[in-house]
Parts: sequence; structure tokens; C-alpha cells
Amino acid sequence: MAGLYIHIPFCHSKCSYCDFFSTPKTDSLTNYISGLEREWDLRKSEIDEPISTIYIGGGTPSIIKPDMLARLIKHIKPTSLEEMTIEANPEDVTPQWVEAMAYIGFDRISMGVQSFDDEQLAIIGRRHTGQQALTAARLINSAGMKFNLDLIYGLPGQDTNSWKQNLDIALEIMPGHLSAYLLSYERGTRLWAMRESGKLTEADDDTVFKMYDILMSATRSCGYRHYEISNFAQPGHEAIHNTNYWLGIPYIGLGVSAHSFDGKQRRINPISINRYIDSLSHDETIFEIDEEDDTDRLNDMIITRLRTDTGLSITEIRDRFGETVAETLLKASKPLLESGKLLQPSPDMIAIPESEYLRSDAIMRELIFVH
Ligand code: SF4
Repeated sequence: MAGLYIHIPFCHSKCSYCDFFSTPKTDSLTNYISGLEREWDLRKSEIDEPISTIYIGGGTPSIIKPDMLARLIKHIKPTSLEEMTIEANPEDVTPQWVEAMAYIGFDRISMGVQSFDDEQLAIIGRRHTGQQALTAARLINSAGMKFNLDLIYGLPGQDTNSWKQNLDIALEIMPGHLSAYLLSYERGTRLWAMRESGKLTEADDDTVFKMYDILMSATRSCGYRHYEISNFAQPGHEAIHNTNYWLGIPYIGLGVSAHSFDGKQRRINPISINRYIDSLSHDETIFEIDEEDDTDRLNDMIITRLRTDTGLSITEIRDRFGETVAETLLKASKPLLESGKLLQPSPDMIAIPESEYLRSDAIMRELIFVH
């Protein structure tokens, strides 16, 4: 089994916190879709396994007209799909759009809501209102497709009460899957500049930890499994495509800035849309190989597995990287296990407790190997 990720780098406008590569210029959209089809033709043999999941992310994939999406999926001709997801923004979600997505074959929609509060939405530069998000969420949820709803906490002007209200609204809709991210201030974004110039204040640690406690208890009481640092699912609603990333399953990434992994090597596509379209019109792929060594692969495995509630298997580390590495890891884990920053769900596994997820970067730093 393998995954297919397709990147759509177009957005209606730029959100103030976003540092992903995206552009509001959609005049090259048709050529871009043709480029994706050509790239698929040239690269589909990179992985000798059937594609079991497709994830169309961005950017804002819901910017693309359904007939163009249908053409793209028809071109790919998936045969063994377990899950096919498309990301959407609330302002694009209409009954006709949801119906068209189901007709094309999507069985999962992931929608970036971020907040239901209009003031908070305005600060982070979202184009939709809270009411639009609510209407769109109810629509998707009642359409019988799997549904992920994204929220952000720690927003400027958001206190713990306001965060709780946002969560209550989301949990009343009861999406099968909920992603909740702590706002991060990325250099180069408008939000970063607003903080630097004193126009807004970043949430303090105390508030953030209280918000995280509210998130843990609210999701738990509604029956969600907190199966990855930022992800919560009702039983059977875990994201298959994303879970496969964390398990190191191979995937092909099509489109600008997309990453691929064939089980051994990572490849990265360039971020220039013009270069991408131009190269593919000449039947040339232009990815770059990300040169990784065993230490990089080991650290990748430690970091991705420890983001999940299943955790990291010492036996798997021993089998892939040898006895000495496994022993070194066990030695480094010991003080963390004693202080409660790690736990052992079974004798072979180590995992970060849910209560420590917000401090996971510091915990992982104690475990990763230096070159
Ligand atoms: S819609 Fe998503 S990808 Fe586009 S600018 Fe906003 S956060 Fe970034």
C-alpha cells in the first residue's frame, strides 16, 4: 500500500499566520492540473505498490472547479482506495460542491475552520465568518462523508472561555475527526510582524496550557481518541493517509513543494509554479533528492512515532538500526520514564503521555541522535 499526495498551491488570499507556499494567482490553474497529470504519468512507477490513499491538500484545493478535479482523478485511475480526502475552506463549501465531491469519489473532507469567532478570524486573515464555517461544517457532517474540522488555539484575543466556546461549537457538530493546533508565529508572516510591532500579544504559556487542558478533557468526554499530538478521532475515523506518514509508508507527492518518500529516499519538488509547469510540458520531472543518512532516518522515526499515542517500538529500532542504537535509546529514555515524561504502554514501547504533548519538542530533543 502507498499514498498519493497532490498539492494545490492556490488560495483566495493569504492568511496572516500562514508560511506555506501559496499564491492567489489562479490564471495558471488549468496548466497546473495538466502538469499534475503529466507528473503522475512520469512518476507513478516510483512505488511498486497500489495507491490506497489520496490526499489533495494545499493551499486551498476547494478553489478548483469540480470538473477539473474529476478529470484529475479520472486520469490517476485509482483502483484500491481506502480513503480519498480533499481539503476545503468554508467559503467554498456549498451543497452542490459537497455533492460533486462525493460524486468524484472523495469520502473524506478536511475543512480549516480555525475559529468560529469573527474577530479572531479577522485577525488571522481568514475570509469566512463563524456562521459560514458553522453552516459548512453542518452540511459536510450531514452528507455522510468522513469529516475533519481544524481549529487553532492560542489565537490573539482568545482567552480560555472563548477557546472553550469554539470547542463547544465544534463538538456539538461532532465531526468524526478534529485537528487542534497551537498557533505558531512564523518569521515572514503578517502575524509575526504584528507581534513584533506590538499590535498584538502572543498567548502566554499559562493560558496555552489551560487551553490544552480544556481540549484534552472536552475531547475525551465526547469519546475522541487523542491519537496524535494535534489529532483526535472518533473510533474508526482516524486519518489513514496521515497515519501512514507517521508509520513510514511510502507515498508520492505531486505538485510544487510536494515531498515524496519511496521507503528509502525522500524527494522534494521545487516551489516555482512556472518552473513546474514548464518542466512537465517538456516531460521533465524536477524533484531534488533529500540526501538522508541513517541518523536522519532514525531521528525521523523517533520524532514521528513519538507524536502518536501508540509510541515507538524498541524492537523495531533494534531491527532497523542495531542493538547499540536500541541500547543508547533505552538509556536516554530512563530518566524521562522516571520523571513521567515518557511512559511504557507495553514493555517494548515508549510513548509521550498526553499531558506532556505540549512539551514534546523538549522530550524528543533528549532522545534524538546527533551526527
Ligand atoms: S487558506 Fe490555508 S494555505 Fe491558504 S493562506 Fe490560508 S492557511 Fe495558508
